[in-house]
Amino acid sequence: MPPALQEAFRKKQMKGGAGIARRSVIMKTKRLFDTDAYIKEFEAQVLSCEAQGKRFALVLNQTAFFPEGGGQAADRGTLGGEQVLDVREKEGVIYHYTAKALSGTVKGVLDWATRFERMQNHSGEHVVSGIIHRHTGADNISFSLSESETTLAFNVPLEEALLRQVEREANAAVFADKKITAFYPDPESLSEYAYRSKLELTENVRLVEIEHIDLCACCAPHCASTGQIGLIKIIGSEAYKGGTKLWIVCGKRALEHYDMLLGQAKRISHLLCAKLDTLDAAVQTLHQNKEKAEYALVSLRRQAIAAAIEAVEPTAGDYTTVCDFKGDDLRLFAEGLKERVGGIITVLEGDDASGYRYVITAREKDIAPLVKEANAALCGRGGGRDNMARGSFRATREQVNAHFIHLEKREERREKNEGRDTRTRIKENRITNPIECECLARNST
Ligand SMILES: [Zn+2]
Repeated sequence: MPPALQEAFRKKQMKGGAGIARRSVIMKTKRLFDTDAYIKEFEAQVLSCEAQGKRFALVLNQTAFFPEGGGQAADRGTLGGEQVLDVREKEGVIYHYTAKALSGTVKGVLDWATRFERMQNHSGEHVVSGIIHRHTGADNISFSLSESETTLAFNVPLEEALLRQVEREANAAVFADKKITAFYPDPESLSEYAYRSKLELTENVRLVEIEHIDLCACCAPHCASTGQIGLIKIIGSEAYKGGTKLWIVCGKRALEHYDMLLGQAKRISHLLCAKLDTLDAAVQTLHQNKEKAEYALVSLRRQAIAAAIEAVEPTAGDYTTVCDFKGDDLRLFAEGLKERVGGIITVLEGDDASGYRYVITAREKDIAPLVKEANAALCGRGGGRDNMARGSFRATREQVNAHFIHLEKREERREKNEGRDTRTRIKENRITNPIECECLARNST
């Protein structure tokens, strides 16, 4: 469309409403990035500006903003000083989204650092995919280039040894600074090109060629040569839909990744007093020592539980205690007490802020009524089987004590009425755990 006609068209679109057109423009947007991926600033005419919710969708006669597509996110930057929030393409028309309406001639400025970083990673992906395709015939079945990572997937399993070989060849291609060019071949001659493509394309096919490395259908902007990609590093791989998914970092992202890893390695080196090239041996020693220490700790905890059980005076009645044994140790303690306690055993650990975890069990007596009553009285939850219940009370120590003392007194009255008196009951028990236990209280009747 000639400029004069474009202006007339623009005016028609803008009339009648604060510079906001109500109908979309159907003229395809000239894609400046198609022929020159290095345009950082450009001028363009606003052909339409349509309100869409809180945003405005702008169509320009030409743009250097790459819209989201082919696994790559939309370019960022400004148009007429306004932040470009998103860029989308629909049937050849590129829509730029801004918070304010714009009209006339506008200057577009790309966030070049972000764009170049994406060009490095996208071009790096072509190099890696091209080399893998040459080695295995595998097709690239997915590609994603996000703010934080670049992933690509292939339809065949790829062994680690091959991936190391691919990485070496990819970086050799970088060192050789191979040319990268994009072109639109004639539709008639398209079939003569052996190119990779994720889609079955028949028209407007744009091919990106990396000299002697790869030929692939792609719409995105790329580096002008492989030297600009910088280091290509495959940092991860996993099985994916019968094939393999890879994570790569290229150029600036590879440098940042290296910085992050080196920073970690230096901190670990400092902590372990080990040189950077002996970290794995130092960590292995540390790991072995930790296993030995854990083994010793388990043994000491078992001894502490045994000693605590031993310290409990045998009783035919019920037994309730608050202790510092946690998790499975609490269960083992309760289990062990069955040798010395004839009634119901209730062991608790915790504090007023986080509540109290309990294990309730008995050798013979049915614990179900006591568990039910305690849960109801102390905002508890939990249960179990084989006459052992585990759970927690959302109550304070005072409330827990009050409840169990109340139970005890009730039991005493009942026994008196029945002429029985098993006497020995312990309200609270001080347990000395040499490893981690802060003793609570001991009081026996
Ligand atoms: Zn591509």
